[in-house]
Amino acid sequence: MEKQGNIRIASENMMPIIKKWLYSEKDIFLREIVANAQDAITKHKKLVDLGEAAAEEHYRVTVTTDPKAGTLTVEDNGIGMTEEEVEKYITQIAFSGAADFVDKYEKAGGDGIIGHFGLGFYSAYMVSENIEIFTRSYREGAAGVHWESDGNATYTIGDCEKETRGTKIVMHLAKEEKEFLKENVIRDLLRKYCSFMPYEIYLNPKGKDDEKPVNDTHPLYLKQPKECTEEEYKSFYRDTFMDFNEPLFWIHLNMEYPFRLKGILYFPKVKKQVELERGKVKLYCNQVYIADNIKEVIPEFLMLLNGVIDCPDIPLNVSRSFLQNDKQVQKIAKHITKKVADKLIELYKNDREKYEKCWPDIATFVKFGCIKDEDFYKKVEEIIIYKNLAGEYRPVSSFYGEEISEEDAKNGKEPQAVYYVSDENKQAQYIKMFKDAGLDAIYCDTYIDPHFLSYLEYKNPARVRFLRIDADVAGALKEEGGEDDDLKKLFEKALEGKHVTVRTEKLKDTTVPAVVNVSEFARRMSEMHSFYGMGESPADVTLIVNAGNPAVQALKAAAEEEQGKAAEQIYYLALMNYRQLTPEELTAFVSTSTLLLEKYLKNDR
Ligand code: ADP
Repeated sequence: MEKQGNIRIASENMMPIIKKWLYSEKDIFLREIVANAQDAITKHKKLVDLGEAAAEEHYRVTVTTDPKAGTLTVEDNGIGMTEEEVEKYITQIAFSGAADFVDKYEKAGGDGIIGHFGLGFYSAYMVSENIEIFTRSYREGAAGVHWESDGNATYTIGDCEKETRGTKIVMHLAKEEKEFLKENVIRDLLRKYCSFMPYEIYLNPKGKDDEKPVNDTHPLYLKQPKECTEEEYKSFYRDTFMDFNEPLFWIHLNMEYPFRLKGILYFPKVKKQVELERGKVKLYCNQVYIADNIKEVIPEFLMLLNGVIDCPDIPLNVSRSFLQNDKQVQKIAKHITKKVADKLIELYKNDREKYEKCWPDIATFVKFGCIKDEDFYKKVEEIIIYKNLAGEYRPVSSFYGEEISEEDAKNGKEPQAVYYVSDENKQAQYIKMFKDAGLDAIYCDTYIDPHFLSYLEYKNPARVRFLRIDADVAGALKEEGGEDDDLKKLFEKALEGKHVTVRTEKLKDTTVPAVVNVSEFARRMSEMHSFYGMGESPADVTLIVNAGNPAVQALKAAAEEEQGKAAEQIYYLALMNYRQLTPEELTAFVSTSTLLLEKYLKNDR
């Protein structure tokens, strides 16, 4: 006999709020319904283990789409429900659960309930105009129960024929939601939300023997790390992230105490370091997918990684602002960061060759992590490596000097200067001079390096300052007694109006007539200006004229009317090693070059 009832919750008010909230994420109804089915199976299995129910050979959840009938059905062979249970769990709990959810959502100011949990069964009304439940309890002699409601104020409940134990949820989809009748749409959703659920899920099974479930009921991350092979890690990566590039390496997280956490984090190969690429860290709770890239749980800088994390202890049906302040969640984030650092250190110590090979791919991420998280920096400080001019990787700290005392610092002593190359091609001349003089420098070519070097200076103020290789003339490149006032005046006159400071030196490398320097400080300021869009403000340059160069000496001896052009030419030659010439500069340079060539060919041979 069918009975009718009124749902006591003011559900008419709930719909609009839930609809609005779920506007972008209504897909999750499928996760909720399938997760309920999985729970029902887990409960049955427990009863079997306790000897309170007969064993089941093949637990399964079946999802079927029926475009003709306009229904989507999820069926399980779990514990089932009696009529009283349906009344209690569905009519009362499911609906009050939804009311509770709305309440919480409003209190949280609508900032997104993190796990989107707590809505459960009711969420199916996002897409359905009517839902029927057919269920039969595991209890001996239990009758089939049929329940039906359109999700508003009334429902009917009564007996029905049902041969098998378990529950079948039939969702009569609303007109606008017909896409959920497409098999491939449902398959994609099952893959997204239900990939790792513990009992097999079949979509539109044909009843054949060799049918495959859509989910992986024993995902690799649940296994003990020592039981996993390299090939398994790689294929898990491919299947989960659809990335056919092999990951560089991975970290298998597996802990029970003080909180439970399992997962695998992969370091992907980065293609080009133009921009920090975003990876995907998928968060699960007991094998149920929650969301990607929850930054409260996984520190932001780790978002470059790909991975899965399953953390049953995270309170998921709470708002983001709650998570941010939750001690447990902070501990989880710290733990993950520590594991990542440990893995890098282990690799550095045990397989330096591989570490160096991977370094170009992970450098940006490690540096970014250091800037973002001081604890991380402290752990990995000694394994941050840079290539020197000889092409060898060395820890950056090995280039630092002894710490200078406060006293010395007060007296103007500066910490050790470490020179760096930011562009191998543009700075080729400086590199050559350095090599010839037996000086060293480091190559810094990731886009994050300018920030990172400042960070290192800030962290080691008494031990290091970084100077770009063209920032000044290092002591070892020159000899005493380079001052030459006449030469200086001559150049100053020739370069009037060009905002150039002139200095003369005797460089050991006599083949170079002059070099341009821009002070590190001035250049950083100007880079900062353009970085923050405050306009271009080119830093002033210093021209170091090499008094020991034969051309410079010849210039000194030349007729006055020729000196000006030659000095300007030397300036452009030096400037070219620093930056690209402007169109005006280039025009002047070319026309003087032509003139010189002509003179050379006509007169001097
Ligand atoms: P929650 O799963 O968070 O408890 P739901 O609204 O999803 O909330 O479900 C309410 C209750 O209905 C569940 O706790 C469970 O007791 C019962 N239930 C839902 N789906 C099933 C099912 N497929 N089989 C058995 N019981 C179910």
